Amino acid sequence: MIWDEDFETLPREALEDLQLKRLRATTERVYATVPFYKNKFDEAGIRPQDIKSLIDLKHLPFTTKIDLRDNYPFGLFAVPMEQVVRIHASSGTTGKQTVVGYTRRDINTWAELMARSLAAAGAQKNDMIHNAYGYGLFTGGLGVHYGAEKLGASVIPISGGNSKRQIIIMQDFGSTVLTCTPSYALFLAETSEEMGVDIKKMKLKVGIFGAEPWSERMRDEIEHKLNIDAIDIYGLSEVMGPGVSIECIEAKRGLHIFEDHFIPEIINPQTGEVLPHGEKGELVFTTITKEAFPLIRYRTRDISVLYRQPCKCSRTHVRMERVSGRSDDMLIIRGVNVFPSQIESVLMNVAGVEPHYLLVVDRQGTLDTLEVQVEVNQKGFSDEVKDFQMLGRRIEKDIKDLLGVTAVVRMVEPKTIQRSEGKAQRVIDKRKI
Ligand SMILES: [Zn+2]
Repeated sequence: MIWDEDFETLPREALEDLQLKRLRATTERVYATVPFYKNKFDEAGIRPQDIKSLIDLKHLPFTTKIDLRDNYPFGLFAVPMEQVVRIHASSGTTGKQTVVGYTRRDINTWAELMARSLAAAGAQKNDMIHNAYGYGLFTGGLGVHYGAEKLGASVIPISGGNSKRQIIIMQDFGSTVLTCTPSYALFLAETSEEMGVDIKKMKLKVGIFGAEPWSERMRDEIEHKLNIDAIDIYGLSEVMGPGVSIECIEAKRGLHIFEDHFIPEIINPQTGEVLPHGEKGELVFTTITKEAFPLIRYRTRDISVLYRQPCKCSRTHVRMERVSGRSDDMLIIRGVNVFPSQIESVLMNVAGVEPHYLLVVDRQGTLDTLEVQVEVNQKGFSDEVKDFQMLGRRIEKDIKDLLGVTAVVRMVEPKTIQRSEGKAQRVIDKRKI
């Protein structure tokens, strides 16, 4: 089903006219209201009135995660705080969170786009949506929640965790749509098996999975183990949250980006040059309807490809290929964004350890594991072994408190972590996704 036929099937020419109009309005507004953008535009020697066509977008400066950090917490908001009705946040590159805000209209737009997304995945009014995305600062839970209500479906705001209870509720309430990370879907399948419950016989018909990278192989596994259609959804809190793009159930191939709200580009991550459709590179988004937190050419660091071939669902919006990696070193561990630099800033505050560390990421069963190998310095090494272990527990607690991710810390002897001449290898990712 197409939730918003008028906009989702808009002919290309009309769509581009609308994008240009909205882009011009957005650039004029950010130039007038956000000093950061005014300075950036001035430095680049471009004014909002220079945007004569969509081609001119490439002359605008990029916005990066570092810019968001430098303007922490509210420096990039384009409306006064009394117009902001919601705040969300996600992990930044260091200890500080990336903070985003929404006006009442932004929340409504988000709900509309999530209703579109759920409908594209085959959900309808009479569905029971089992929403196991986390509720809180993370955009997943509330993003799906408002969209499900807008669609008119019944939403179960179960959030993450307590997996046995998830299975019981799924069975007793007759959940038909499951929303969570793809790895959690597999974990739920395992849990039901342990409980002696046949999840395949439940009423579940479709799952909408995102917030971490996955593959076709994993799709097959989920579809087989849960006896459902597994649909990929994409979004990031900076741009809005979930619902920036989604696969349609008709094709299950490529995610339609809601182009009447976001203009996507693919760039060469090294040079910043815009690449033609069909070429692989870094995804960049410009928001063209957001009020509180508009973004101009935001570099997502996600690697993808855009393509415009017509789709059998009749939506006209461009499709992006499933994200295949990152152009930076961000890791996603159990749905939580983790930068090695964040771990480093935790270690910097601990006496007795060196800033030499190695992150080993693996997957046991369906869940990600993180081991942090930390090198003690000579002074730390001469202390008692008991203190050694206490130090490890303390670092584990700091990582949990600051990053929200569970890690096992392994203390290693001085000078055992390999040094490198160039960029240090900080991560070994053994997961086969
Ligand atoms: Zn389609």
